[in-house]
Amino acid sequence: MIPAAFEYKKVHTIEDAIASLGQEESKLLAGGYSLIPSMKLRLNQPSLLIDIGDIPDLKGIREEDGEIVINAGTTHHDILFSDLIENKLPFFHQAASMIGDEQVRNRGTIGGSLAHADPAADWPALVLAADATIEVVGSEGKRSLKATEFFTGLFSTALQENEIITAIRIPIPAEGFKSIYLKFENPASRFAIVGCAVLRYADRKTNIAFTGVADFAFRDAGAEQVISGKIIDDATIKEAVNAALTGANILSDNFASEEYRKHLAGVYLKRALQEVA
Ligand SMILES: Cc1cc2nc3c(=O)[nH]c(=O)nc-3n(C[C@H](O)[C@H](O)[C@H](O)COP(=O)(O)OP(=O)(O)OC[C@H]3O[C@@H](n4cnc5c(N)ncnc54)[C@H](O)[C@@H]3O)c2cc1C
Repeated sequence: MIPAAFEYKKVHTIEDAIASLGQEESKLLAGGYSLIPSMKLRLNQPSLLIDIGDIPDLKGIREEDGEIVINAGTTHHDILFSDLIENKLPFFHQAASMIGDEQVRNRGTIGGSLAHADPAADWPALVLAADATIEVVGSEGKRSLKATEFFTGLFSTALQENEIITAIRIPIPAEGFKSIYLKFENPASRFAIVGCAVLRYADRKTNIAFTGVADFAFRDAGAEQVISGKIIDDATIKEAVNAALTGANILSDNFASEEYRKHLAGVYLKRALQEVA
């Protein structure tokens, strides 16, 4: 459980972070709560760690042009205790309260979680359901990626090697929306075995996203199609559960077999839909 030797460099601006990326086998270090364990297991052996934990421009949450902007280095703790998040995006508040323990929430960041793309992480389901945009910047300039294009596989994303996530932009839903995040958690780590995020707009358009279920978090088009625009009742919920998970590459591990995960996903989707009905 000892990482391979590495150099350490602390940077104080996004520009310095980008300039240092691409040198040697470099990796960004944010909270370190995913990267350091993976280095201890020697799954990651960077020769240079670029510490972005003290970049002021990567911290903070604000409202701007009808969106909530969460800078990438904002911790789970700061999201949990943000009044803006609690009032405008209650399911983000709810999800933050469910991540790990206090120590993990104090160090871990939303940007680190999205970049790491753990199939059991919570934030991927939230940014997908919220139709968020992920802002990234690299040596070739800025890009805005829809959350639906961001997660591409097990621990993999559309992020290029020399890019850094700077912020997550979430459109504030119009009055009258309902949102929920529910998860069946690993009792030791609290990572999601199944996590289900639902955002139901006032006009009944409904976004549904799962994490923990498959090799990467995803929007469930089948279930959304059944529910969007309709009244949610026992019949539509049953139909949505039957339509869910089509084409998903369901995980099977020590915690839950493929069959059990499928069952749990149906149960959590049903509960989430009952909550927003
Ligand atoms: C005991 C334990 C319990 C946990 N429980 C949960 C849980 O219940 N739910 C949950 O979702 N997570 C959980 N986590 C994970 C935790 O939330 C991590 O902190 C988070 O996933 C990664 O964030 P970080 O800031 O620590 O990133 P790091 O560990 O510092 O980095 C992770 C990866 O992201 C890259 N990276 C970091 N920031 C950026 C950026 N701005 N741009 C581009 N790349 C970047 C790094 O280079 C690295 O590859 C748990 C972790 C532990 C140790």
